[in-house]
Amino acid sequence: MKRTIIPARSAITIELSKGQRCRVINTEGGQVVDTWAFNPYDFNECLSMEHSRSAIYRLLFRPGDVLVSNKFQPMLTLTDDTSPGFHDTLHAACSAGSNRFYGSDQIFPNCQDNLQKQLGLRGQTINTIPCPWNLFEHALIGDRTELKDEISAAAPEDYVELEARMDLVMIFSACPSLVGKISGTSARGAAIGFL
Ligand SMILES: [Zn+2]
Repeated sequence: MKRTIIPARSAITIELSKGQRCRVINTEGGQVVDTWAFNPYDFNECLSMEHSRSAIYRLLFRPGDVLVSNKFQPMLTLTDDTSPGFHDTLHAACSAGSNRFYGSDQIFPNCQDNLQKQLGLRGQTINTIPCPWNLFEHALIGDRTELKDEISAAAPEDYVELEARMDLVMIFSACPSLVGKISGTSARGAAIGFL
């Protein structure tokens, strides 16, 4: 399987044609990967966590689930998942603002800037940052409403397999954030495998 590396703290962009599959591989384990998908013909249409939660009626998605765009169009099928299945859909991407808010002394790099840089390389700008699909992020709901951070439980080489339901531009950011130790105490890379 051909692999493209997502370097630690960095993001990459890939294009998927309708029907094509890829795997997001947690090469070293324990690494959160912020994931976005856009309609290549209209970047105003993007993968939406709030629309997908409403479509699937769960906070976390499982193999067989079809995630939708902010126009309720099918975008991605989660076809396989070898990880423990925690892929947060609630947290905003880390950003300079969030790092300052939480008192982190590591402001840059961050996933929001990584996304905007990748879009900029394609001549695209967006006015609001969609909530990412935080692959491998183990955020728990406690006491009915409380949100808790746990260290990612993904093992080395665990992967999530996705099938494009429409042509897509996808951006993946190996999250550099150390806030909440979501990726443990160090930021690592990941990889995309093409099937
Ligand atoms: Zn991040």
